[in-house]
Amino acid sequence: RANWSRAVAILQEFKDGCATPLHRLRQVVDALVVEMHAGLALEGGSKLKMILSYVDNLPTGEECGLYYALDLGGTNFRVLRVQLAGREGRILQQEYEEVSIPEALMVGSNEELFDFIAAELASFVASEGEGFHPLPGRQRELGFTFSFPVKQTSIDSGTLLKWTKGFAISETVGKDVVEELQAAMARQNLDMRVSALVNDTVGTLAGGRYWNEDVMVAVILGTGSNACYVERADAIPKWRGVLPKSGSMVINMEWGNFWSSHLPRTPVDDALDAESLNPGDQGFEKLISGMYLGDIVRRVLLKMAQEAALFGDVIPSNLLIPFILRTPDISAMHADESADLKEVTRVLKVVFKTQASLRSRKMIVDVCDTVAERAACLVAAGIVGILKKIGRDTVGNVDMARLKSILAGKGRKTVVAMDGGLYEHYPKFREYLHNTAVELLGKEVAEQVVVELSKDGSGIGAALLAASHSQYL
Ligand code: ADP
Ligand code: MG
Repeated sequence: RANWSRAVAILQEFKDGCATPLHRLRQVVDALVVEMHAGLALEGGSKLKMILSYVDNLPTGEECGLYYALDLGGTNFRVLRVQLAGREGRILQQEYEEVSIPEALMVGSNEELFDFIAAELASFVASEGEGFHPLPGRQRELGFTFSFPVKQTSIDSGTLLKWTKGFAISETVGKDVVEELQAAMARQNLDMRVSALVNDTVGTLAGGRYWNEDVMVAVILGTGSNACYVERADAIPKWRGVLPKSGSMVINMEWGNFWSSHLPRTPVDDALDAESLNPGDQGFEKLISGMYLGDIVRRVLLKMAQEAALFGDVIPSNLLIPFILRTPDISAMHADESADLKEVTRVLKVVFKTQASLRSRKMIVDVCDTVAERAACLVAAGIVGILKKIGRDTVGNVDMARLKSILAGKGRKTVVAMDGGLYEHYPKFREYLHNTAVELLGKEVAEQVVVELSKDGSGIGAALLAASHSQYL
């Protein structure tokens, strides 16, 4: 028999630990701004890496010609080509192919992985059909989206700091991934140049900017989470090179690793972190991203099963399996509006091979709601922190450049390009995120901030960055 008073107490204690009242979120906003400054001041100045992307030219819409992109960031990689036709014509034609990477290659040798990728790319290039026009005498150019932590040294070079997401090829760590790809392409007799190496966040920003010049920030909310934004070059003390002509540079924050004592955390989060593959790392990501939300819920349910017999006297054994409950499951349960919570019953049966009383099912929905609300509110605080850093969190505070663009009838808005399955497929999460952003910004400012879904913008974005950093410009 369930021990209701114990169950209620566990739930309440968890909710208290996750609480995100506005004053607390404002502390998170301010802490993020402080860390952003510290990370920009010097290398290693903060857990926020604030990586220079060397992207100082974002797409304008004027780009012309044929460009390629290669997107490597998970279990699949994508190759794509676009024929660009300037401001009026825009994207005349595009084609892409998606190839899954054999698991053996993810943990095999460096050369095998890059040979495989280059061979796929070569066959994709060979299938170039009607409507795609490489210019005679010019090399084809490629934007390379590589979504692993890279220490970038220029727009077209960067060394791998570490693999993540199931890849483990120690030879590659410390190598320039562009050189590796370029060498593999040469072995395939493929005459193509990597013009831009970009993170997926940066690709998303570029893809968004192509259509909308008010895009200043990009956020990824998928399996993992990250953000980037356009910073003034003179606000980057650690930048030692010549200031870019454009006066600005995109900063890849790697915000998944943000940490602050103001983040609302519970013992459940500590346990998840301690048992993870990267304890002590990616503290913010573990509170907000799709990879983890389901497992936070599972851990709370396990505690309620053990201490309050939520599922009866026997603890369902599947409840002990890490990551068995996935974020799509919690979004499905959270969206259940039926009086008897049919969807919750279905998920419990399929995932945990168990059932629970209606009262227990209601508590389970409450746990999902608590986890999703905390995550969404923290993402909202993160976005507001970035807006604050770039002075877009007030209506009053307008610098000259912005005043000019407002007078010219543009740049009234600040747009956040968003990509990722968590944001795209979880309506209640989106609702919490938007409502909290409005509360933090105030209605007047919030009207000038738009979060725009930019689905798979990073692939096109990389091709566009290859265009805006072309060797022929
Ligand atoms: P990736 O981040 O790996 O590039 P996506 O952007 O497609 O991939 O995001 C996939 C992630 O989105 C999944 O790992 C999952 O956490 C989350 N997700 C997918 N579908 C849903 C859903 N229906 N509800 C909530 N989250 C979802
Ligand atoms: Mg992605």
